[in-house]
Amino acid sequence: MTYYVAPLADIAFVLEHIVDYPSLAAMPGFEHADLPTVVGVLEECGRFMADVVGPTNRAGDTEGSRWQPDGSVVTPTGFKEAYHRYVEAGWAAVPFPSAYGGGAFPWVIGVAMQELLTSANMAFSLCPLLTQGAIDALLHYGDEIQRETYLPKMVTGEWTGTMNLTEPQAGSDVGALTTRAVRQDDGSYRITGQKIFITYGEHDMASQIVHLVLARTPDAPAGTKGISCFIVPKFLLREDGSPGERNGVSCVSIEHKLGIHGSPTCVLAYEDAVGYLIGEENMGMRIMFVMMNNARLSVGLEGLALAERAYQQALQYAQDRIQGKAVGSSAKESPIIEHADVRRMLMTQKAYIEALRCLILLNAGHIDRSNHHPDEAVRARSSEIVGLLTPICKGFGTDMGVELTSLAVQIHGGMGYVEETGVAQHFRDSRIAPIYEGTNGIQAADLVARKLPMRGGASVQEFLASMRSVDGELAEAGEAFASIRKNLAQQLDTLEEATAWVLSNGAADPNAALAGSSPLLRQWGLCVGGWLLARSALAAAGTGNAVLAENKLVTARFYAEQLLPRAGGLLASVTAGARDLFALPADRLHS
Ligand SMILES: Cc1cc2nc3c(=O)[nH]c(=O)nc-3n(C[C@H](O)[C@H](O)[C@H](O)COP(=O)(O)OP(=O)(O)OC[C@H]3O[C@@H](n4cnc5c(N)ncnc54)[C@H](O)[C@@H]3O)c2cc1C
Repeated sequence: MTYYVAPLADIAFVLEHIVDYPSLAAMPGFEHADLPTVVGVLEECGRFMADVVGPTNRAGDTEGSRWQPDGSVVTPTGFKEAYHRYVEAGWAAVPFPSAYGGGAFPWVIGVAMQELLTSANMAFSLCPLLTQGAIDALLHYGDEIQRETYLPKMVTGEWTGTMNLTEPQAGSDVGALTTRAVRQDDGSYRITGQKIFITYGEHDMASQIVHLVLARTPDAPAGTKGISCFIVPKFLLREDGSPGERNGVSCVSIEHKLGIHGSPTCVLAYEDAVGYLIGEENMGMRIMFVMMNNARLSVGLEGLALAERAYQQALQYAQDRIQGKAVGSSAKESPIIEHADVRRMLMTQKAYIEALRCLILLNAGHIDRSNHHPDEAVRARSSEIVGLLTPICKGFGTDMGVELTSLAVQIHGGMGYVEETGVAQHFRDSRIAPIYEGTNGIQAADLVARKLPMRGGASVQEFLASMRSVDGELAEAGEAFASIRKNLAQQLDTLEEATAWVLSNGAADPNAALAGSSPLLRQWGLCVGGWLLARSALAAAGTGNAVLAENKLVTARFYAEQLLPRAGGLLASVTAGARDLFALPADRLHS
């Protein structure tokens, strides 16, 4: 197992050249967060995550969180102490408003910090991730008293948050949930029902857990229109606001899982638990969407963070492991990094990782612009870009997380498959990310059914045009950029064709569009990645740093020539329609 090293130079590069962070920090409210300041904060954060959180990762996997017969949950060795130090150091509060004790830094800086936290220990990172989503929902929809009551302690991380959507019969179809909420004379509600798969639904790292719970009032309409959202604290609050008597929510069991063993995935029983309505009755889905959008970007980032951690380990192993004699080597035997096929795997990891970092931080920067830019037109445009990029970050980011951690296992050979090296953990941990926070199938459906049709397709056309506008700069940059230019132009053509096909056929034949939705999402991810790496190479060429310029040029060229062409191969799947998916009856699908 290797020591995790935070990739700070690349994060700083992306912030400056892809996010255009200086223009973002110039927006009102961010005067204290210029580029040198945030780079300093990220350096300190990187050290903390590597030194304090990173070492808990292995125990998290081997011990796992443990359910106790009294309904409590004991987290793995080191989690509690690392969490207290995380809270004490103030990391949890960095991107939240100062009115509630936050650091009021841009969201993109919170997201960059999240990469470092997640690489250090993904199972641990889920506790702050869920808390952050709950904070966001309360900031948007909580009333003044609710915000004053819960946010200061949640912003510091002293209290943690959860998100309670899933029930046995209600997974992707949240509208099928049946947990009931009955209004009381004092305006509170009594919540009864069972929730499953609740991340950090019970644990020993904080003095209070603030559950956000979706439930139905007795006369609510069916489906998603009849869902309301409630605050259900684990401990009811005393007059002075401190946690007192236990509320009617208990952890019945926790799941045994493929990965993220350190993160307790809880079955929660609500029995007449006291809950407080957020917003109005039946507006629960709107509130949960705030949490989910926030969390979808963070889950996309999990793919990047685990790919980075696994890549660092694979790169080290490839230099240490001696096997065979590489072509052209004068030595008797060679480290495996000298073999072309191992280089192919390493370059594939490096190129996708850098592309994903650009994509995710670009999206996060647009979240800041959509919230804080003084010009309403810029806010509106950034909001559309966030809408388009979020399912791509989630779907493409997490699928690549699985593929790239799998490559890290492959580079380790048999030592990757045994648990001793620890690289298998990253592969196992990564596998959940395409499933939760809306499966990647649901992300693809969101892309084709909601995001591409924004403004009758005009919004996505504008984004495609902005990707094409890099062509002029690539032409001017000369011969070294020629193949990047050619491949990008070709693949943007196929992407445009696929997108146009879905837009023109989707309304009349929704199943045809949905049949091609996942390949189309992959095509989008590949092309946006190629565009952003091309921009990175151009920006690096302008820095006067010859080593950086060569690194970025080679990475962008490798991607453009060897990975990006995969996008074109997907065109046939996107435009095939649904005929053969349904041609065989279900009982003839077995061979
Ligand atoms: C470790 C872990 C942690 C979790 N944490 C939380 C949490 O904190 N809070 C919470 O509320 N939930 C949580 N979940 C639940 C998670 O969000 C759900 O598992 C997920 O939404 C999928 O629901 P499901 O498992 O019921 O799968 P299903 O909805 O049954 O889906 C099964 C398959 O069918 C596909 N499918 C279903 N409907 C459609 C459709 N309309 N179109 C196309 N394909 C479709 C899916 O893509 C998937 O491939 C967690 C789950 C796990 C395993």
